[in-house]
Amino acid sequence: MRFASLGSGSRGNATLIQSGSTTIMVDCGFSISETEARLARLGVAPGDIAALLVTHEHSDHASGVARFAARHGIPVRCTAGTRAACLKLGFESAEPFDSHMRFAVGDLEVTPVTVPHDAREPVQFLFDGGPHRFGLLTDVGSVTPHMRRMFSGCAGLLLECNHDREMLEDGPYPPSLKERVGGPLGHLSNVQAADLLRSLDKQWLQHLAAAHLSDKNNTPELARAALAEAADCDEKWIGVADQETGLDWREIS
Ligand SMILES: [Zn+2]
Ligand SMILES: [Zn+2]
Repeated sequence: MRFASLGSGSRGNATLIQSGSTTIMVDCGFSISETEARLARLGVAPGDIAALLVTHEHSDHASGVARFAARHGIPVRCTAGTRAACLKLGFESAEPFDSHMRFAVGDLEVTPVTVPHDAREPVQFLFDGGPHRFGLLTDVGSVTPHMRRMFSGCAGLLLECNHDREMLEDGPYPPSLKERVGGPLGHLSNVQAADLLRSLDKQWLQHLAAAHLSDKNNTPELARAALAEAADCDEKWIGVADQETGLDWREIS
């Protein structure tokens, strides 16, 4: 099993998960040509993608979904709430899944995890391929007991470290945006991500990467330091999925 990011941040997100002969893409916040170029960088042809899952309707996740999926004949799956919120974006043919039910896509088992975020019916995902579990968790305003339970025991984890609290407070955002980002339905700070990580069972963890970093309110160094402290590991071991280059393939074995 392996995972990679095409890019992560407020200007576009997409994640790949592969197991056996199955490739899943989560979210598409890029144009068709940008998505194709970023996939090529990772050695994936659009026709290899078995399904495009969507976490929620925010444009950095959903803006490119319908066009890319239609161009390449890829089925789109999301919650009924996300589908309703994205009808104007061309989600009529998206097939809804129940946010509390596991489902299979080829060789991968998909478990949606409901999360607190200011969208209609947002979820994040766990993927099981054989004995290994990969967790994707971004766009979350607060840490819930449900999240602590579900994301325990992952072998790979892509975890939001959106902002450093002081940088957000002192930074250029208007007060209303500061309140939204730092609020219970906004985004995870480095401290919140570290707190979640501290409480997870990490005995199987092979790969950990920070994601959805704000370019105004965080730095890769601060995110790495927070996660390294919580996981009790070297900062060099922690990856960062950034906006331009994403994250190269990480193999889980
Ligand atoms: Zn986002
Ligand atoms: Zn969002």
